[in-house]
Amino acid sequence: MNFADSEVVASILIKAGHRIVDSLDDADCVLINTCAIRDNAEQRVRHRVRELQAQQQRHRLHIGVLGCMAERLQSQLMVEEENVSFVMGPDTYRRLPEVLENLTASANSKFEIQNSKFSTETYADIQPVRLGGNGISAYISIMRGCQNYCSYCVVPYTRGRERSRDPQTIVDEARTLCEQGYKEVTLLGQNVNSYRWKDEAGQTVGFPELMERVALVSPQLRVRFATSHPKDLSDELLQVMARHDNICRCIHLPVQSGNNRMLKLMNRHYTVEWYLDRVAAIRRYLPDCSITTDVIAGFCSETEEEHQDTLRLFRQVGYDYAYMFKYSLRPDTYAAKHLTDDIPDEVKTRRLEEIIALQGEIALENNRREVGRTYEVLVEGTSRRSKEQLFGRNSQNKVLVFDRGNAKPGDYVQVKVTDCTAATLLGELVIG
Ligand code: SAH
Ligand code: SF4
Repeated sequence: MNFADSEVVASILIKAGHRIVDSLDDADCVLINTCAIRDNAEQRVRHRVRELQAQQQRHRLHIGVLGCMAERLQSQLMVEEENVSFVMGPDTYRRLPEVLENLTASANSKFEIQNSKFSTETYADIQPVRLGGNGISAYISIMRGCQNYCSYCVVPYTRGRERSRDPQTIVDEARTLCEQGYKEVTLLGQNVNSYRWKDEAGQTVGFPELMERVALVSPQLRVRFATSHPKDLSDELLQVMARHDNICRCIHLPVQSGNNRMLKLMNRHYTVEWYLDRVAAIRRYLPDCSITTDVIAGFCSETEEEHQDTLRLFRQVGYDYAYMFKYSLRPDTYAAKHLTDDIPDEVKTRRLEEIIALQGEIALENNRREVGRTYEVLVEGTSRRSKEQLFGRNSQNKVLVFDRGNAKPGDYVQVKVTDCTAATLLGELVIG
């Protein structure tokens, strides 16, 4: 999401006559787009800001902090990090040119621009400038904000209320990307299943219809999406996916915990039974679909048995990939105000390590089953290990590495899987 936002920022600034430069020595201003989801994300930002002090001693360089951490801390951040000149929340980027102009006018001033609580900003009319991309795969932001208020999560406080973007602008952006030679788009939102747009005639467009419209842009354009909240994953969406081969067979379905008491405390609005029913529905409509997840270890009051429930669920679903985190208390959230962060750090770490180890085994088992199968792969680039090899992804979002033959980035090729690790499938090009 931040990556997509940075592309909007670049577009706004370039339109106002600014330039992106490659070297810090040539920069008048550095913008740091930040995440506030866990404390260690914020600590990394502070570290980066402090590192820039040395550069600031060499020449005049403004530092602007954008994004969720800026919104969360506001002027406090500029007090604690004295070398920061301005902070701006995620819905305020249209005002960046004005802020930069004011900075130039008055050298020592500081600026703080907060999101409006009822922001309707979707940046729908802004064509993002694709930053450092490969010209093959791009993000399209389809909605902003979140109001699910999971009890551990800071996002509703930093990104504001949920709002959807005009579907026509989304389809147009996908078409433009396709005409420019892009082969894959990922539709982004905190909970894409609750995408909803009402047009002037009172007609509503939901996520399944939006997906269908984007899928119809071109059969050559792959469509992915993230993230799906399990409480809203509908059969209708799965049916749309089944109708279009170019909608990728991969669903990211964050579970957070395998225990119902924890899920209730987390305010997730589903049970383990509901979640498993959704997994069964995915397998029914899309037998070849991969399923990935997010999980939090050591949330408030989690017992050893409840942690075991998470491990059990992981075995039952057999995830292809998981983003795994230790619970990190975020100020102002429901959990910070009303629950106790009572699991000692070493217990959180041990539980997290157990989940990571199990997930490693599951991913390897899943990948072993892929040996012998042939997949259509979108080639993304040269493998890090060898210049003679390329890498790309199949529809299931698994990375395949293979000898390059005559293939080049941006091609669709057939690759037969011959071997694997837990993270990668190794294969060979199928010619003809
Ligand atoms: N909107 C997405 C997730 C966005 S945040 C969804 O609901 O699925 C990405 C992930 O960060 C979450 O799924 C959760 O696993 C993790 N996360 C969020 N807040 C956290 C916290 N306070 N501590 C640890 N992990 C957290
Ligand atoms: Fe956070 Fe929950 Fe919203 Fe995801 S759905 S962004 S975890 S509040």
